[in-house]
Amino acid sequence: MQTPEFLLSATWLLPIAPNNIALTNHGVAVHEGRITALAPVSDLLQQFPDCPHTHLQDQILLPGLINAHGHAAMSLMRGVGAGLALQEWLQEAIWPFEAKYMDAQAVAVGTELALAEMLLSGTTTFADMYFFPETVARVAHQTGMRCQIAAPIINFATSWSRDADDALHKTMALYDEYRHHPLIRVAFGPHSAYSLERKHLNQIAMYADELEAAVQIHLHETQREVAQAREQFGHGHVELLRDTGLLGPRLQTVHMTQLTAAEIEMVAAAKTSVVHCPASNMQLASGTCPVAELQAQDVTVALGTDGAASNNTQDLFAELRLAGLLAKHANADPTQGQARDMLKMATLDGARALGLEQDIGSLEAGKSADLIALNTQQVNMVPVHDPFASLVHNSSGSAVTTVMIAGNTLVSDGQLQKINIDELCRKAQRWQLQLS
Ligand SMILES: [Zn+2]
Repeated sequence: MQTPEFLLSATWLLPIAPNNIALTNHGVAVHEGRITALAPVSDLLQQFPDCPHTHLQDQILLPGLINAHGHAAMSLMRGVGAGLALQEWLQEAIWPFEAKYMDAQAVAVGTELALAEMLLSGTTTFADMYFFPETVARVAHQTGMRCQIAAPIINFATSWSRDADDALHKTMALYDEYRHHPLIRVAFGPHSAYSLERKHLNQIAMYADELEAAVQIHLHETQREVAQAREQFGHGHVELLRDTGLLGPRLQTVHMTQLTAAEIEMVAAAKTSVVHCPASNMQLASGTCPVAELQAQDVTVALGTDGAASNNTQDLFAELRLAGLLAKHANADPTQGQARDMLKMATLDGARALGLEQDIGSLEAGKSADLIALNTQQVNMVPVHDPFASLVHNSSGSAVTTVMIAGNTLVSDGQLQKINIDELCRKAQRWQLQLS
């Protein structure tokens, strides 16, 4: 075997697959951005004695986390509309604020702020849905993060698009531009079934099929959405999406807090994935995604933070803890929401939902070297009896020391390598002052 560029090992290594177990004193060999071997440290050193080697003592090495749904630029809107229910929150607070203030420059600052927060807390891949997606893509490219980018396709004028047709055509132009990018994928982002006409859903299904592109939509987010759908169509939006050809393996449905058993079966039969956003659902009191019922039908359930206006953090470790506790609470069953299952949700299942499981989501030979490490030598982390439980229940993104994407180090010793934090905070502060 060719000598790899470097070896990286740690006291604990959680590969997530093929076995979701904790290995001790294991490491990976990395060459040209990919993992070429995973083995005990002693074996790696014996096989590659001349290879540069870093051992992360008392640290946990695992695949980078995947934030499967968010609106990065909304980090500039933390706290806007706090305390309102979803429809009032959107119509009275969020949409007017966005129309007035969120231009391309604001989206650039907000996205960079969110990406910095995500990287520092161990997220290596994010799925975004926001206006000015060309700006989001440019910032992601400069930052070196892996992502799926969609723009909200919505049937009214926004600061970015005239109407749904315009948003759809702009999405296709962006898709062409990034078709061969190694880290950035463009997806279709119908905002929701209630903000589009049936013909738009049909069109999106047709174009997505032609391009084999992913589609992400907010779906069955609240009781009100589903009640209105049942009144208008005689059934929920899941069935509407099935009838318009959108329900399929490339569809990612976000929230899904209200589902009948028949709708869960429809989703499972179509191999559609679900993105669970517990903090956003709790903050807006939207309901609870029936994760256990979906998983029992083999539906892939990924994890997302949603935008910072309904969360308000982009730290997926906070989301992991919440998802685990909510699973126990909602099912009145402490055996639900096991820490190792939660970590799989934020890694391999996230990769599956985004159609990237061949490349990322686990530490396995052949996959991209997208990995993170957390230091356990902190008062809230020692001692470590079970690294899975430590990560999910008594850790936070602030313990992250190392973040690597495709073999490139973006965070080292807990410091961002490509983003100047002071400068970024000044930009965000200046933007806030412009509002007043
Ligand atoms: Zn959202």
